[in-house]
Amino acid sequence: MAVPFDRFRQVLEDERARLKEELARLDARAPEGIGYHDHMADDATDVLDQTTRAALRRHLEIRLQEVEAAIQRMEEGTYGICQACGRPIDIARLKAIPFAALCLDCQSKREREPGEAFR
Ligand SMILES: [Zn+2]
Repeated sequence: MAVPFDRFRQVLEDERARLKEELARLDARAPEGIGYHDHMADDATDVLDQTTRAALRRHLEIRLQEVEAAIQRMEEGTYGICQACGRPIDIARLKAIPFAALCLDCQSKREREPGEAFR
């Protein structure tokens, strides 16, 4: 039973390109440095901006890693297989989250036990 993963590959590659672009844009907007302003108010705004930017950057980087790992699995022929239990991931789940590394069962188990490391 061949599952048509090709369309997911396109989605993943588009997503990878989009994420890289967003990261590049984020870096381009980054200020030269912090603390070189004349006004306290400006500094406060910049610090907040910096925090928001760092959080956004972290989010984009994690997503990019997930997308790249999914593309890697595609190349290795393990795409669509749960990385924890080895069972196929539901196709509906892949449609919703093409970079999903875990089946729904393992994902919710993991979310219930956040301390558990990724094996
Ligand atoms: Zn699983």
